[in-house]
Amino acid sequence: MSRDDIIVSGAGIGGLAAALALARVGYRVTVLERALKIEEAGAGVQLAPNATRCLAFLGVLDRVRETAVRPRLFRVTDGKGGGRLAEARMDREAETRFGSPFLVIHRADLQAALLAAAEAEPMIAIRLGRTVEEFAAHDGAVTVLANNAGTTEDYVGRALIGADGIRSTVRNRLHPSAVPIFSGRAAWRATVPADSLPAHLAEPIVRLWLGPGAHLVSYPISAGAAVNLVAVTPDDRPAQGWGVGADRDELTKRFAGWSRDARALVGRPERWLRWALFDIDPMKSWGKGPVTLLGDAAHAMFPFLAQGAAQALEDACVLGLALQEAGDDMPAALRVYEQLRVARTARVQKAARANGRVYHLKGPARVARDFAIRARSGAALLERYAWIYEWGP
Ligand SMILES: Cc1cc2nc3c(=O)[nH]c(=O)nc-3n(C[C@H](O)[C@H](O)[C@H](O)COP(=O)(O)OP(=O)(O)OC[C@H]3O[C@@H](n4cnc5c(N)ncnc54)[C@H](O)[C@@H]3O)c2cc1C
Repeated sequence: MSRDDIIVSGAGIGGLAAALALARVGYRVTVLERALKIEEAGAGVQLAPNATRCLAFLGVLDRVRETAVRPRLFRVTDGKGGGRLAEARMDREAETRFGSPFLVIHRADLQAALLAAAEAEPMIAIRLGRTVEEFAAHDGAVTVLANNAGTTEDYVGRALIGADGIRSTVRNRLHPSAVPIFSGRAAWRATVPADSLPAHLAEPIVRLWLGPGAHLVSYPISAGAAVNLVAVTPDDRPAQGWGVGADRDELTKRFAGWSRDARALVGRPERWLRWALFDIDPMKSWGKGPVTLLGDAAHAMFPFLAQGAAQALEDACVLGLALQEAGDDMPAALRVYEQLRVARTARVQKAARANGRVYHLKGPARVARDFAIRARSGAALLERYAWIYEWGP
């Protein structure tokens, strides 16, 4: 293997985007992925303008648009009473304001678009069934040991990018104390055929219902053929992974006192997948020598700002740009990348935590929150996060 190669651990949204960004600036990239097949859980993802701008930069936005939905509105509703609290335009007006569209898409469609672009790129090799276990830096290079069905393989590159998710092995070796923190909450996710719902609930609207101690999000995906649902509730089961004990009746009971629309959505799916929510504390430094982190491995965050994948896409674009001029000093270029990313991603992590607190207020604090949301203009809902949405590589 050539010493010009860069090794990426993980072929999630972050790892595939990083491979594309690095190939664009002339690196040969080997992506080592633990799974035997690249597939995504059946769920949606919101792509804010900063994310769609990155996808355009990576050359995959046109493909993403084929299955994405461009929502018309973002609507916040009182989960219990059903009254509208606020509403913002998400289409042309917001696109002009932030310079790139808001889109919502099935995760599998986003992953497929990135994978197709990576597979079409001769500079990228994706090796499935390879679990990165160890690495060691030496003489301006890094050797990575990966387990392939019980056999250890070694890969040598000029850099290793740990894009291996919230339970990152690369991060664990560099920063063993940076462990995932359980939120005490679970996200329940499901997708349902759009035609199985009352027509108004399948409209191109991102809906957020705020109730006491829980919230619910819905939006259409798959070119409008399906609707994605996410319900977030308190939960004391820190089990990892998808589909753990996702008891439909448990969820419908939790939403029993909610508005008619919220109950209609929660009661529709036959099957829910439950995901215990973790984040990590913002880190002051990510990498060392020829090794760095990217995406959830570096800054796993709660989904209450819908920015985890978006920040991974931003990381990927900045990494490509920082390494464009790396010359012989790869570690210095990686530190430039980190300097450009650490403060911003920490700020987004903290803002996501803050939203988590506000979304689940109860009693008088909830009433005050709803009053404050009503008092603001609809546009202010999005304008608050202009510092996130305006970003471009
Ligand atoms: C309920 C919920 C809703 C969300 N909604 C949104 C949203 O609307 N918008 C948004 O932007 N983000 C959202 N996110 C966040 C987003 O899903 C993640 O931030 C994003 O998927 C992270 O991508 P990643 O590539 O960093 O990590 P991952 O997607 O976790 O990918 C890591 C990859 O590394 C592989 N891997 C792991 N360990 C190894 C190893 N040792 N060797 C080799 N391979 C390995 C894994 O198999 C995996 O393929 C949401 C998250 C949740 C939980």
